[in-house]
Amino acid sequence: MLSAETVRFLKKFLLILTIILTIVLIINYTIPWIKELIARIKDLIEYTETREYKYAASKNSDVFHHINCSYVSSIKSDNLILFKTREEAIASGRRSCIRCDP
Ligand SMILES: [Zn+2]
Repeated sequence: MLSAETVRFLKKFLLILTIILTIVLIINYTIPWIKELIARIKDLIEYTETREYKYAASKNSDVFHHINCSYVSSIKSDNLILFKTREEAIASGRRSCIRCDP
């Protein structure tokens, strides 16, 4: 037979173990959820930031485009320059695209 003290110890031990396991389980379920949430917020911030830019150009080109011009999607992200205003684009020394006429 186990002594009363041992039983008490085992009960306490099991309780602590259960609490630890519960915490681990909660963390395991919440962390991916929090990561997902942070990623969504980042996407949203990025989306609203890029919406501010209405004109785009390539580093290697002297032509600027409306952000929706089909040419913009062909510019590598490393070479992409964004402008918020038409004046800003012109000030960079670029002329407007013939196709999209920004
Ligand atoms: Zn264009």
